[in-house]
Amino acid sequence: MRRLLLLVFLSPLFMAGPVAAEGFFLEPPRIGTGGVTQLHWVGETPFMALVRYRDTVLRFWPDAHGASLLLGADLEQEEGIYPLLLVAVDRLGKASFSRLELTVEQVERPQEALILPKSMVHPDAAARKRIAQERTQLKELYARSLRPPQATSLQLPLQAEVSSPFGLGRILNGVQRSPHAGIDFRAASGTLIKAAAAGDVLLVDDLYYTGRTILLDHGQGLLTLYAHLSSSRVTEGETVKIGAPIGRVGNSGRSTGAHLHWGVRLRGDRIDPLGLTAPK
Ligand SMILES: [Zn+2]
Repeated sequence: MRRLLLLVFLSPLFMAGPVAAEGFFLEPPRIGTGGVTQLHWVGETPFMALVRYRDTVLRFWPDAHGASLLLGADLEQEEGIYPLLLVAVDRLGKASFSRLELTVEQVERPQEALILPKSMVHPDAAARKRIAQERTQLKELYARSLRPPQATSLQLPLQAEVSSPFGLGRILNGVQRSPHAGIDFRAASGTLIKAAAAGDVLLVDDLYYTGRTILLDHGQGLLTLYAHLSSSRVTEGETVKIGAPIGRVGNSGRSTGAHLHWGVRLRGDRIDPLGLTAPK
């Protein structure tokens, strides 16, 4: 009996943590708007595992415990309970079906009112055309990432004071605008910016709002965006390691002082970057 107990305690499943049975689970099952959760299949690596979330079918990626996938809730997503319909198919074709629920709660965020020069708030016709084109271009890039995950957590791109938090509500010249989709770090022009995780350079371009902008693709639809740079040190298509210098802080685009705007997208959802940098 004692030997049996010892075997149980030494088994890899026991050592992996409290979840020993094969199956799907969510960690955590409850997130705020702008938050991220990880969906796991624990067991033998499946031939295929899929989840249906918000009318989209997404595939899992193999990991050390079976397979997993990051799911996010957009900054302005409706709060509520989202059903997750799941299936894992093993190598013999046996399918296991399951259903889980993801609870998304509204996070109350502060608001700020800004008075800016009229030309910055009301772009002219030519600028509006350019803005629309760039919005379409970015939307396509957010949807394009289908590579295997290269990272599921991030490190800060620089050490600096946060001058504007994620999700800050903005009223420009009395008009409610979309909330702040990233974090602003106040830093001297020229401060080095480092890649938040390993990835591929998806975009290096000069955009109307975000000035010199870099977009890194970390796989499974997870992207990081670095905006208002004074210069960039990478080119599109290049692969970067975590911590690699990619550019320098600047004041390009619609910006009122040197800072880094750092954004995170997960399949287009606007995600709080600090939700992915916290130690797990
Ligand atoms: Zn910003």
